[in-house]
Amino acid sequence: MTNVHPLRESKATKKCPYCHVMLKAEETKCFQCKNKVGPPDDFGIAKKPTDWWSYLIAILSCGGFAYFLFWLFFLKDKG
Ligand SMILES: [Zn+2]
Repeated sequence: MTNVHPLRESKATKKCPYCHVMLKAEETKCFQCKNKVGPPDDFGIAKKPTDWWSYLIAILSCGGFAYFLFWLFFLKDKG
């Protein structure tokens, strides 16, 4: 019984999420478009590395919105 693992085969390579060129699974940077790439996902496509700066901006804007709601419901009517 020879059980071929098609997933194992595809784990050796991954696709660039930006320009869709084939890369080695261990590559961290696309040789063609020069973008940073993460490890491959279940579909063999490299993940885009986490953009912490945009996360930070999203968290800050969410915090600002939460404060606005707090002001709207609790502080506004006090005056
Ligand atoms: Zn690329």
